[in-house]
Amino acid sequence: MKANALVMEEPGELSQKEIDIPEIGDDEVLLRVELSGICGSDVHMNEGGMDLDFPVVPGHEFAGVIEEVGDDVRTDSKGEEITEGDAATVVPGIVCGDCWYCDNVPARPTTCENRDVYGYFNVDEPPYGHGGFSEYVVIEDRASFYKLPDDMDVELGALAEPLSVATHALEQAYKPGMPHAREGFGPGKSIAVQGVGPVGLLTVAAANNAGAGNIIVIDAVEKRLEFARKFGADNLVDLTEHDGDEALNEHVSSLTNGNVGPDVVVESAGYPPAVRQGIEILRDGGTLVEVGHFAYNGEVEINPTRLVQKYVDIRGSLVYPPSQFETSIELLDQLDGEVPFRDLFNYKVGFEGAEEAYEKQANGEAYRATIHPGGI
Ligand SMILES: [Zn+2]
Ligand SMILES: [Zn+2]
Repeated sequence: MKANALVMEEPGELSQKEIDIPEIGDDEVLLRVELSGICGSDVHMNEGGMDLDFPVVPGHEFAGVIEEVGDDVRTDSKGEEITEGDAATVVPGIVCGDCWYCDNVPARPTTCENRDVYGYFNVDEPPYGHGGFSEYVVIEDRASFYKLPDDMDVELGALAEPLSVATHALEQAYKPGMPHAREGFGPGKSIAVQGVGPVGLLTVAAANNAGAGNIIVIDAVEKRLEFARKFGADNLVDLTEHDGDEALNEHVSSLTNGNVGPDVVVESAGYPPAVRQGIEILRDGGTLVEVGHFAYNGEVEINPTRLVQKYVDIRGSLVYPPSQFETSIELLDQLDGEVPFRDLFNYKVGFEGAEEAYEKQANGEAYRATIHPGGI
């Protein structure tokens, strides 16, 4: 069958085209895409920052409605029965299941040596798993997908991906059984989130729901800081009001129990100097999670002596295992109405508005611009 799609011929060159969608096999599912978010990494791809085999149909944060179910498919990846007409969302990353990393380090699927990702495939080559900027996507048998709860708005399904990034980053700061020893994150603990774009905001919502005692958000854009309050932030720190790292440290410390700095810092700004700031803001013996630099954004000098003197833990966080989608869908369901998730989608377009949507996402006007293949 044919489907309308948005094809990136080369970085910066988008065109609307008809593409071929293969007939689904017995163990595959066909999804009609309702919406697909434009992520920071899509912007990066558009700007030429990714070495891909173009042309590709981008889009890895998508949700839609199941159009056709292969004869041998009964359930989603969680084991819930599915049928045509169910809303669902797809985990974009697909691991090979065969390499050394798949066998030995399955909790970190990005280490797979042969990983495929929806939204990064070449359009003309098998397995034809196109991204979400297409009317239809084939969910192949290697991929994980999850049905949304019956009463959940399909739109929210497009947040399962970024919320998985956020919840996984927060989970990096948990030390099993240790919060009483003030190790890592736990109920009542303080956390600072640097950069409140979508992943930062979703981290705030997740931390708040997990019982954080004090959530400090740090950003240079006042409007974003105010918005973060709706996601559960307690203290807003505007970078433009503090001259230099020392002044910033002092202020952030003054907001915490004992004036020592937060127990946990999540760096979700993706701005190199924020990493150094984050290490200094953190209380001694605290945990810093680095999730913002999913793509190369420059470098920063780190003084290793500070890491030892402060005796801090630093953890990188990249994506998540597929079951993280269960956590995210659960949270989206639980917190809908309480947390203004839908307000993140503040720039919705059909294919024709795509270029502008990329611009709005790149310049920060959109929290999460979304492409709706069926129109708005
Ligand atoms: Zn993304
Ligand atoms: Zn593998």
